[in-house]
Amino acid sequence: MRTSVSAGLRGSSTCLALLLAATLGACRRPSTVDGVDVSSAVARQGIQSIDSAAIRARTAFLSSDFTEGRAPGTRGGRLAAAYIASEFAAAGLRPGNDTSYFQPVTFVGVTPHPELDFQSADGRSRYSPGYLDDYVAWTPRQAGQVEFSGDVVFVGYGIDAPEYDWNDYAGADVKGKILLGLVNDPGGTGGSKKFRGDTLTYYGRWTYKYEEAARLGAAGMILIHTPESAGYGWSVVRNSWSGEQFEIPNEPGDYHEALEAWVTEAAARRLLGLAGVSLDSLVTAARRPGFTAKPLPLHAAGSIRSDVERTTSANVVALVPGRDSTLRDQVVVYTSHYDHLGIGAPENGDAIYNGAKDNASGTSAIIELARAYQRLPERPRRSVLLAAVTGEESGLLGSAYLARHPPFGHFVADINMDAINMYGRTGDMVELGGEYSSLGDVFRELTRYLGLDARGDQSPGQGHFFRSDQFSFVKRGVPSLYIEQGVDYVGEPAGTGQKREETYRKERYHQPDDEMLPEYTMGGAAQQTQLGFLAGWVVANAPRPPAWKPGSPFAPASDTAPAGPGAAQASPGSAPAGGTAAVDSAAGGS
Ligand SMILES: [Zn+2]
Repeated sequence: MRTSVSAGLRGSSTCLALLLAATLGACRRPSTVDGVDVSSAVARQGIQSIDSAAIRARTAFLSSDFTEGRAPGTRGGRLAAAYIASEFAAAGLRPGNDTSYFQPVTFVGVTPHPELDFQSADGRSRYSPGYLDDYVAWTPRQAGQVEFSGDVVFVGYGIDAPEYDWNDYAGADVKGKILLGLVNDPGGTGGSKKFRGDTLTYYGRWTYKYEEAARLGAAGMILIHTPESAGYGWSVVRNSWSGEQFEIPNEPGDYHEALEAWVTEAAARRLLGLAGVSLDSLVTAARRPGFTAKPLPLHAAGSIRSDVERTTSANVVALVPGRDSTLRDQVVVYTSHYDHLGIGAPENGDAIYNGAKDNASGTSAIIELARAYQRLPERPRRSVLLAAVTGEESGLLGSAYLARHPPFGHFVADINMDAINMYGRTGDMVELGGEYSSLGDVFRELTRYLGLDARGDQSPGQGHFFRSDQFSFVKRGVPSLYIEQGVDYVGEPAGTGQKREETYRKERYHQPDDEMLPEYTMGGAAQQTQLGFLAGWVVANAPRPPAWKPGSPFAPASDTAPAGPGAAQASPGSAPAGGTAAVDSAAGGS
């Protein structure tokens, strides 16, 4: 059974009637978004062909026990990829990677065995913290043996943010040094009026701290864990960093630090004691505007022996070539990760981590989008790439590789869907990242056109925008939008959405119980996918490609912005469920 457009969109009575009458122009809502007529017959055909029942059926298969949790490099993962490719082919889409639907991605797995030593400048006192109890460490150099040695510089929050008039590195030369810094940002933990208060900025993410240190040529960066700045205890850091970590292969010319580490607060106090300074005085100084990096009379040295193993997985890609020969090289990419956690520790006798909502649902939506694009009577002006990406749960790996290696043209926008609404229609829709680029305006105008309320991030302290595949594109300077489901269910009591989300987070997220349930009607799946379709379709047809907002930290124009050629390395980390603030892993989008 095919979902009609009225069932897919919001049942707002006035506009719904007009929708059914196919006279959207009469509805007092904008039908031109970014210079594109979204009430055109082509757009309507696109949204009408998107079907909730089809999305649900594919979600059920992709999250069945047959695909064994879809872990990269496993039989179940390959089965899922083969299924997606066959769906792309059946829909008549062109392979996205020349003649293939697969873009191979190598995963480099690194298990570290580090040793770390601190020595006072006069050489008289030493401290060797204990691995795991006092510190964790890792090297992004992907080598079996790495040595490091350098003077220690305290860099405060380790932030250079011109738009907040904040530069901890002003006037400092930290090349070859071992940096010691704090997590989060001065707004989140320091009470500074700068930054965004409790909304975590990218500058507060630990990934940023390591990237910035590498950009400045540091030998290493050590972050100090405190419960306040992290939002939870040391065990989360320890569990996330002690096993095998994955990334995509390093590329020639990229600089990587020898050392990336965390120390406990107690270990930080001890090692700072060698330098005769107190952690509290350094933290107080770091919070003050105008703080700059402070060399300490302290030396750090050590080595990391690593077990390095390589496995291969693949992104699954299909291409809709643009019809405009001058714009065809500009590619709008849709991403949705198909990987999940595979077979793991059993819970209640179930060891298969099915990942129904996360993210068989989004993968199914990508397939439905592919079919919708293929059926359009007229192709968009720009090209559209449909990408079911791998390795999100291992640290956004498939998307990092794709963003760096476009199989066709170059990317001008990414629209990501990680988890689709498993219940009925909503009166609203949520976007993440819209504040950084013109894609936020496109989203808001489209929701208005569809009679929906637009909402931003529902948990801004968690930095979810930095934690799913769209961020791989952001780091390459590509404006990106993460479309999430709404929370305001039509015809259900207020608060139902929040309650369902809390239950999911607590009882199912990254657990074997994230599987298809009878209560998952997925009646709202088409609605969310239709909005995704329109957003990408508008961008693919607009006079100009999307642009970053002035002052966005991700605009590549600035040398000091996080987006830059050196910023594309994947971040290590498995995903502690329910992580907060700056300390959690890059992986683990909802
Ligand atoms: Zn996910």
